[in-house]
Amino acid sequence: MSKSFRVANLEVGPGEKKRGSIPVLNLADGSNVSLPLVVVNGTGTGPTLYLGAAIHGDEVNGIAILARALAQVDPTKLGGRIVCVPVQHPLALQSDHRLPVSQFLKSPLDQVPHDAWTCFPGDKNGNVAQIFAAAIFSLIRECDYALDIHTPTRGGRYVPISILPHTSTGPAAVRAHQMAEDMGSGWIMKGDKGMYVADGILCVEACKANVPCFTFEIGEGGRLEEECVATGARCVSNVLKSLGMIDGERELPAKTYKMRDFLGIRANHGGLLVPVAKLGDEVRTNDLLCRVINVFGDEVQVVKAPQDGLIVRTTTMGSVSQGERVTTLGLL
Ligand SMILES: [Zn+2]
Repeated sequence: MSKSFRVANLEVGPGEKKRGSIPVLNLADGSNVSLPLVVVNGTGTGPTLYLGAAIHGDEVNGIAILARALAQVDPTKLGGRIVCVPVQHPLALQSDHRLPVSQFLKSPLDQVPHDAWTCFPGDKNGNVAQIFAAAIFSLIRECDYALDIHTPTRGGRYVPISILPHTSTGPAAVRAHQMAEDMGSGWIMKGDKGMYVADGILCVEACKANVPCFTFEIGEGGRLEEECVATGARCVSNVLKSLGMIDGERELPAKTYKMRDFLGIRANHGGLLVPVAKLGDEVRTNDLLCRVINVFGDEVQVVKAPQDGLIVRTTTMGSVSQGERVTTLGLL
């Protein structure tokens, strides 16, 4: 028989879904910043799944994806439990920015490291980013699986892509790979370098703590888009189905691209960015990706694909400086 389930200050009976909040950080005016929390305690047996979004404050698609996915879960038919933090950094959401900008402007040195996503497992006696990471990690480490949903920061747009921790992280990372296959986003990145597989990243540290987890990116920073919400919610439901937590057939894409590396392509002149290749396109070496024109209308750069690949991330800004990324290829 199922038992009551307690997460922080929230007691949830079998077959119940409850909302709550966890105080994390005390501000100068005495108010607390709290993590919003949804806990679903099923009636059947199954794993405990952690779902988190918006550790970067402009990544609102993930918040809506989790709301949509949870709305489809009947707690009386759920096997296992769900612990969901739809906004993992409320202070950054207030800024509608990747980072909690007000804190960063006020005390920039104290805010380093400034990105909570990179600060796991966190430190409850550390700075703002480390305190949030510690609060989130205290939830994750009690779960059997975890999923961390992102979008690029403002000005960038991803295909729905599951980005995996490296298998050298440990056996949980290998299980995370299976979880990504089951999720069926259609795009899987298994790289061995760069920020997504670095120590300190949420999913990497979760895997080290034996909680299979990966990063899921979808859509664009600062935008809420129905197509992304529907796709993301379907992917989360696929995870629940594959873990045996809810009934039903998974809805899978016709094709899944499995890639080994990202290749960011940068402007070598400043100007206005004229995209040509579209998000999701498969391109060949020397295919035209975009153009850069200067403020007088002269073409100053024609950006061609340096090798074969897939357009997995586009820049949606209208202008770029020299050195800024114009697009990203996923390499097969
Ligand atoms: Zn992010």
